[in-house]
Amino acid sequence: MPLVIHTIPAFEDNYLWLFHQADKRAAFVVDPGDAQPVINCLKAHDLELAGILITHHHPDHTGGIKALLANHNVPVYGPDSVNIPQINHRLYEGDSINLAGNNFSVLEIPGHTLDHIAYTTSPEGESPLVFCGDTLFTAGCGRIFEGSAEQMYQSLQKLAALPDATRIYCAHEYTLSNLAFATTVEPSSQALKNKVAADEKKRELGQPTVPSTLAIERETNPFLRCHLPSLALAASQHTDRKLNDPVEVMREIRLWKDTF
Ligand code: FE
Ligand code: ZN
Repeated sequence: MPLVIHTIPAFEDNYLWLFHQADKRAAFVVDPGDAQPVINCLKAHDLELAGILITHHHPDHTGGIKALLANHNVPVYGPDSVNIPQINHRLYEGDSINLAGNNFSVLEIPGHTLDHIAYTTSPEGESPLVFCGDTLFTAGCGRIFEGSAEQMYQSLQKLAALPDATRIYCAHEYTLSNLAFATTVEPSSQALKNKVAADEKKRELGQPTVPSTLAIERETNPFLRCHLPSLALAASQHTDRKLNDPVEVMREIRLWKDTF
């Protein structure tokens, strides 16, 4: 049975994800920063909350847990983080959990926060997918709040090792501003021009640009391209220092983006 994934917009630009097997009512929510939109979605599709998945401790990803637990006695999966006391199933790299008829593997991806994890699965007959929170975004990556550039680089590499067809379910609609930055870094990229045109159209129609795919991200996301000469050149010119090491290139591009 296919895995159905509902997009739940919340706050300014967050996406909460609610998934279930097509023929079942048991549904799992990823990063419920707010409870009411989740409750509304459950109601609208006649679903029953069966579990909560958390990627990291920031309030826009966890703020709704309490209110959901008040009315639903369900497991809360997430990282081993002192900041999220409601988690009762603590997960580590390589752990596997069966939810909605699918095995999800856990990846530890520190950098944005130290406790950040991702959930990836390959539903039968469908392309793989990953819920990656605030680490890898469409055309961008999360700010490095707690980890180092080295950690963020390794985490992005871990996500980049997933199959090309992997659908990237990130937690924010940051795509157009990320693309504006990516275009500044790689102004002559035709892949970026195509993506900007396609995603501007989606936003005009009020549609989400998420999920992207890893294949598209490899072509357009500067943070997955730091090993390439074009990126090393752009970062070197921006900082006026000769950079070769991909980690150094990523650090510089992330700093550049912080003030873009
Ligand atoms: Fe965050
Ligand atoms: Zn967030």
